[in-house]
Amino acid sequence: MKLKKFISKKPYIISGPCSAESEDQVLSIAHQTHNITDLFRAGIWKPRTKPNSFEGAGAPALKWLNKVQSKYNLKVATEVATPKHVELCLDAGIDVLWIGARTTVNPFYVQEIAEALKGVDIPIFVKNPTHPELALWTGALERFNKVGIDRLGAIHRGVYNYGKSAFRNDPKWSFPIQLRKESRSLPIISDPSHIAGDASLIQNISQTAMDINLDGLMIETHDNPDQALSDSKQQITPSQLRSILQNLVLRDPELRVKGPKNKLLNFRNEIDNLDHQIISLLNDRNQIVKSIADFKKKNKLTVFQIERWFEILYSRKELAVVLGLDNEMIAELFELIHTHSVLTQTKVMR
Ligand code: PEP
Ligand code: MN
Repeated sequence: MKLKKFISKKPYIISGPCSAESEDQVLSIAHQTHNITDLFRAGIWKPRTKPNSFEGAGAPALKWLNKVQSKYNLKVATEVATPKHVELCLDAGIDVLWIGARTTVNPFYVQEIAEALKGVDIPIFVKNPTHPELALWTGALERFNKVGIDRLGAIHRGVYNYGKSAFRNDPKWSFPIQLRKESRSLPIISDPSHIAGDASLIQNISQTAMDINLDGLMIETHDNPDQALSDSKQQITPSQLRSILQNLVLRDPELRVKGPKNKLLNFRNEIDNLDHQIISLLNDRNQIVKSIADFKKKNKLTVFQIERWFEILYSRKELAVVLGLDNEMIAELFELIHTHSVLTQTKVMR
């Protein structure tokens, strides 16, 4: 993708209410946050899970955002989900648009919105789809890039949680990390509000986003969260936003001073040595796997025996717990090792 840099400050802060509810509400929030916000957000057309919920103030709210622009010299952004929304926003001079998670999942919608933006020079943020499919996220970004949008950004808002969890959406940090590996120049903003679903978790999630070197935060901010017409539990007040931003520990991706650099190099050398040992041990293991395959072939045994797999899984997880390692990580690792061992054996047998 051909991208133009448009975010000049890190962390880039997007804040504002989940929904624009009235002119007074929008102006009051902007008044209290304009000096700590780079981009003011407010939803106008709201994708609600259930009918009969507040579905946004609609087109009249565009004028409220215009007042935020002129009164506070603040750039404004809203979510668009149809070509009509795009047209209304462009006519109103909205500065930045974002694509919501429920739209990113549908390539037809994304393509229609992209076509409505052909030849328009405006920054677009694309939220991740509600399930963790990286190609769907990058595919949506590419659709915008193909019609000429080169000021593009991604917003990481977590993915639908199938199980019980403290979070509304699973942060699945590997998802934005994978995206970063695919594109170094694409800004990635984290949206702790929709990950958390709860105001008390926002500081913590914001810190993790900074620790993995994401570029900014989108935080829903309301002057009276208890009375908010949407996402009431996760919105914070302007003063809470100020305190969260002040408490953030910002780290550098590169060391500025020389002295500690040697220390970091030493740690990295140790890691390199250990990784070499891991690979060499995997090679030793693989030799035995091949011998087992010969043995099984001679004795007409099947390659895969489910009892043996469960034994491997449980014993390795148990050891992880004893050592204080994350046992899910060990389970994933051995799943991979074991699958490849089975594949190697089937090759040997043939
Ligand atoms: C929002 O930002 O208010 C919103 C609807 O978010 P998402 O698309 O991430 O659910
Ligand atoms: Mn919301």
